[in-house]
Amino acid sequence: MQATMNSKNFRFGWLVLLIGLWAASAQAFELLPEQVDDNVWALVGEIRGRTPENHALNNTLGFVITPKGVILIGSGATPTGAALIERTIAKVTDQPIRWLIDIGAQDHHWLGNSYFAAKGIPIIALARTVAAQKAHVDDHLARLKQVLGEEADDVHPVYANRVLEGDRAELNLGRIRIELIWPGNGHFPGDAVAWLPDRGIVFAGDFVFNDRILGVHPFSNVVEWRQAFERIAALHPRIVVPGHGHPGSLAKAQRDTGDYLDFLVEKVGKALEDWKDLGETTDALDDAPQFQHLKFYKRWHRTNINRTYLQMEAKQ
Ligand SMILES: [Zn+2]
Repeated sequence: MQATMNSKNFRFGWLVLLIGLWAASAQAFELLPEQVDDNVWALVGEIRGRTPENHALNNTLGFVITPKGVILIGSGATPTGAALIERTIAKVTDQPIRWLIDIGAQDHHWLGNSYFAAKGIPIIALARTVAAQKAHVDDHLARLKQVLGEEADDVHPVYANRVLEGDRAELNLGRIRIELIWPGNGHFPGDAVAWLPDRGIVFAGDFVFNDRILGVHPFSNVVEWRQAFERIAALHPRIVVPGHGHPGSLAKAQRDTGDYLDFLVEKVGKALEDWKDLGETTDALDDAPQFQHLKFYKRWHRTNINRTYLQMEAKQ
């Protein structure tokens, strides 16, 4: 009898442990709504890479609550992620999402569009942003499939249905003035920023990486990214909502992104002037303690030097 009880207890113990493990593993990823000003919020995703748990929401989006509804800036990477965005906003306001603005060409800024389009929510973007989304969509879908598996099967690209020509367009949504501005090429061609001139707040998308080191991709343009950053800084924003990391002041964006772009362009430019080769340049610039506080410094810094060198050399 005693033995039976013990083995039952033992089995019960295992069951509790398994349920506990399941509950811990199923503990859902949450987007962090971070208020930056009256009725203006950032939605801060995970700082590390894309995972099935975070639905590739390893970036920062945002929203503005107006008397006529919510303006959402960025839709996430998948319909599941988009639903999470909607649920997160519903914790903050009863106002429904009325408009969606796409400022980014990279997957996690817009591939959740279909979820909002199905609800009849108009999607607004600069023509340049849409063109860049179209140019890169196949790569994004293939990569999402690799990372997310099944969840990626639900992703169907839907593009803005209110496409604005030119490099600057003014919108008035729910009595909030928003300018969509293309400040130049950067992390992705076609990326734009959403500027609230009356509030001094800029949703800077992937032109600004806070807290983590930015990544230079083969299609990023480091020299133009630096100029674009300067154009964003020239707006003199009080608050910068980045494309990755937490929102903050312009000084923070300058430290985490602007200074790093300056470093890449100036140091690599000097190395090219001095006829240093790629290996020498990468080794010489490898140690940059002023940027070591940025997450993923070790993973990205050498790659960034490398790609900056190749880009700048090709343009010489
Ligand atoms: Zn991004």
